[in-house]
Amino acid sequence: MKPLIYNLGRLELETVCAEHDQPRFRAGQIWRWLYVQRVTEWAAMRNLPASLRRALAESFLLPEPEPLATQGKPDETRKLLIGLRDGECVEAVMIPAADRRTLCLSSQVGCRFHCAFCASGQGGYQRQLEAGEIVQQVMSACMLWGDRPTHIVYMGVGEPFDNYDAVLTSVRTLNNGDGLGIGARRITISTCGVVPGIERLAEESIQVELSVSLHASSDAVRTALMPVNKTWPIDTLLAACRAYAERTGRIITFEYTLIRDVNDSEADAHALARRLANLPCRVNLIPLSDVPEFEGKPSSPAAADLFIRALAEQHINATLRASKGSGLEAACGQLRAKHR
Ligand code: SF4
Repeated sequence: MKPLIYNLGRLELETVCAEHDQPRFRAGQIWRWLYVQRVTEWAAMRNLPASLRRALAESFLLPEPEPLATQGKPDETRKLLIGLRDGECVEAVMIPAADRRTLCLSSQVGCRFHCAFCASGQGGYQRQLEAGEIVQQVMSACMLWGDRPTHIVYMGVGEPFDNYDAVLTSVRTLNNGDGLGIGARRITISTCGVVPGIERLAEESIQVELSVSLHASSDAVRTALMPVNKTWPIDTLLAACRAYAERTGRIITFEYTLIRDVNDSEADAHALARRLANLPCRVNLIPLSDVPEFEGKPSSPAAADLFIRALAEQHINATLRASKGSGLEAACGQLRAKHR
């Protein structure tokens, strides 16, 4: 199988041009054809010498951006199923709003972290995504939207820090100002709590947003919901988060799914506030989605309200994510599972 042209970062593209005795500016031309004009055929790159176009076509694949399937209506939250060249497929989710177009990306085919309330985790792990396959999801969304997303979240299928290098390569491609130019602060990487990934990200030169799925304030509850907690328990995770915040000066978002009688009591809120005290952060409370394999129930609106007020009393900034209440809002991975 030929590698995807989207796998190449800008410098790697310059190296390819040099290997074909082409000046460096050719890499800039190719980059703009790919990410500004977003062409889908080599022949469309009209200002390249025919010999270079032929050489690129022989060595790299320019994938078809048409998704295998879509779910949802235009202008509403919409899932895309993107076919990969080995027959696998991944999901991306387009979320339009008045002032932004957010795209939620997958970082792996399946996931090996088995969070209890996640359809992707239940479906098992198949393989890593290449950087180009992550970028391909964005190009498919560009085609359907007719424009590029304004915001990117790595919150789809897979754990981004379990595929660190490919994810960071894709971030740099999306962020590159000569192409898609999506601002680093509009790109969020979400982790289930893979501490080495947080430590590596703190040392990167790119200032993306970090979101950490916490979902509990005690190790017993968190381990039951998220087996990753056995490897990196809450104290270890939050120590890495504090170090990250100190090193980068950035605020961390903690995701916390409210589950009735599991983690949504006032005492849970106070315990969470104690854990997060003096850590520059905000808490994003999430209504539980319906996942057939998980028996938990969503919290009542009254319990969610009480939880937010208890956090606010302890000076923790928390908001409750609106639930769209449709089947489409269910956890990632379900369109792919249906297709398979
Ligand atoms: S929530 Fe994320 S890390 Fe956990 S199983 Fe699902 S995809 Fe994997």
